[in-house]
Amino acid sequence: MQVLRAFVLAGLLGAALMGCAKPVSHNDHAVSGPLAVQDRVVTGSVQQVASVRVQQPMPKRIFASGALAGRTLAVAATADIVLRPGEVILTFDDGPRAGKTPAILDILDSHGVKATFLMLGSAARANPALARLVAQRGHSVGSHTYDHVDLSTLGRQAALDEIARGEAAVADALAGSGQGLSPFFRFPYLSQSGYLRTTLLQGDMVVLDVDIDSKDYYKDSAAIVAARTLERLDARGSGIILFHDIHQRTVDMLPAFLDELKARGYSVVRLAAKNDGVFSRSIITAQAPGAAESL
Ligand SMILES: [Zn+2]
Repeated sequence: MQVLRAFVLAGLLGAALMGCAKPVSHNDHAVSGPLAVQDRVVTGSVQQVASVRVQQPMPKRIFASGALAGRTLAVAATADIVLRPGEVILTFDDGPRAGKTPAILDILDSHGVKATFLMLGSAARANPALARLVAQRGHSVGSHTYDHVDLSTLGRQAALDEIARGEAAVADALAGSGQGLSPFFRFPYLSQSGYLRTTLLQGDMVVLDVDIDSKDYYKDSAAIVAARTLERLDARGSGIILFHDIHQRTVDMLPAFLDELKARGYSVVRLAAKNDGVFSRSIITAQAPGAAESL
C-alpha cells in the first residue's frame, strides 16, 4: 500500500508540474484518471518531463554538439516525447501546398534535418504527389483533420469522424510512397477537449502539442518570424516548434533560422513512429467515413 500511495503521489506531482508547464492547450486537466496513470506506468517519462521543464529557461550556447541533425526519437505515445536541453522538433502544418512544401523540403535537405508534417486530408487529396514527396524525402507524415475544423465546435462523433476522414485521405495520398501515415496528430487551432484528447490517446494516437509557436501566419516579415521563434526557443531551451508549409514567409525565414539554430548549438530531433503506421493500432472511430467516401 505504501508503495502504491507513493506512486500515486508522484503521479499527482508529475501531473501538477506538467499542467503548469503546458503551453497553449485547452482543457488538459480533463486528461486524468485511468488513462493518465496508465501512460505513466508504460513510459515512466513523467519525472523526466518535469525535470527537463523545471530547469528552464536554459542559458544559450551551452549544449553545442556541432551537428544540427540530432537523434531520432521513436515514440509510441505522446508521453514518450521527452526532449533534452537544446533539442527541437520541427513541425509543419496545413500542407502540402504547391510551391511552398517542395521549397521547404529542399531547405531541410540542405541542412540535413528531418521534420514532421501534419497534413490536412483535403490538402493531401488535392496534392497527393506532394504528400508522397514529403514521405519519400524521409520526413514523418501525420494528420491534422480533413478540413481544418475547430473540433471543439463539433459533437463528439462528428469530431472523431473529421479526424478519421483526415487520416484516411492522407493515408490514401501516401499510398505507393513506401511510407505509411504516422499516428501523429495535431489539433487545428490547438483546440481540443479532454474527451477528444483522451480518446485519441487511448487509440494510440500521438498528439503533438506545441511548445513554440512561430506565429508564421501573422503578416510579419520573415526576419521577425525567425527572431520571435528563436527568442521563444532560447527562453525554453528546447521544444516542439510549429510552422506552416503554406506561407512564403516560412520558406523565406527557414534557411537563416536553421543556420542560427546550428550557431546556437541546438539540434533537430527526427520524430518517428515506433509502431510504423496507424493501422497497427486499434482504430478509435466507429465509422471511418473517409474510407466509405473513397469507395
Ligand atoms: Zn493548422
